[in-house]
Amino acid sequence: MAYVYDPSNIFARILRGEIPNNTVLETDHTLAFRDIAPQAPDHVLVIPKGPYVTFDHFINEAPEAEIVDFYRTAGQVCKVLGIEPGHGGAGFRAITNSGENGVQEVPHFHLHILAGRNLGRMLG
Ligand code: IMP
Repeated sequence: MAYVYDPSNIFARILRGEIPNNTVLETDHTLAFRDIAPQAPDHVLVIPKGPYVTFDHFINEAPEAEIVDFYRTAGQVCKVLGIEPGHGGAGFRAITNSGENGVQEVPHFHLHILAGRNLGRMLG
């Protein structure tokens, strides 16, 4: 079954400028902004500007240039926040929830970058 993108989702509305956001970085293909309900001192969402529903949708169907731009921008966010462990930062977690079992709330693919506290172990 093909993915059907719902253009009324909240991130689509942010991309159309209908809802304000706290932008960290923006490129032609990607937007990074602070989560409205942060789960850590730093909690940034990175989203592609294209209409992709989940991680697999994005990776399997987006043009390579958009995928590279997305992950490079996520890397730049780590730089801007000063959280890169290889450069003296204390580290971070980057996660994506997908679909029902992943408990994805907003049906527009996004990467959560969480940092600023010890996040604990995710898997037993
Ligand atoms: P998900 O559960 O992985 O889909 O995460 C959706 C995230 O979007 C949650 O962490 C929400 O707090 C966040 N969120 C929802 N609406 C907004 C908004 O308007 N601005 C910024 N973040 C939002």
